[in-house]
Amino acid sequence: MELSCQIAGCKTGVPEPLETEAVCVLHFLVRLEQTCDAMRRETVTGEETPERYQEIIRYICDRGERLSRISTSGLRLQDELKARILTGFLSLMNLRENLDRALSRSATRRAGI
Ligand SMILES: [Zn+2]
Repeated sequence: MELSCQIAGCKTGVPEPLETEAVCVLHFLVRLEQTCDAMRRETVTGEETPERYQEIIRYICDRGERLSRISTSGLRLQDELKARILTGFLSLMNLRENLDRALSRSATRRAGI
């Protein structure tokens, strides 16, 4: 039996790459954008532990992989959703850049420059 999205009021089917999350493509993207925003704000402070950086990097890799599976698995996606997937990739790339910048900033601080 096909799973349907766990978000209240949404009965859209869940594609195979998202079965562990039990959300539809749209709600996966909404959640992804919110999480990326929150993580980006977090990187601004530059006070994360190395473990937190690793966590964020793992998050980026995992979501990027899932997004590419969604976009290449032959689902019939509306153009609007396709555009949103691209925005999702962009958010992940920007987050990764922010993270790298934050890392080099804190390395500079530690070196006392
Ligand atoms: Zn949904």
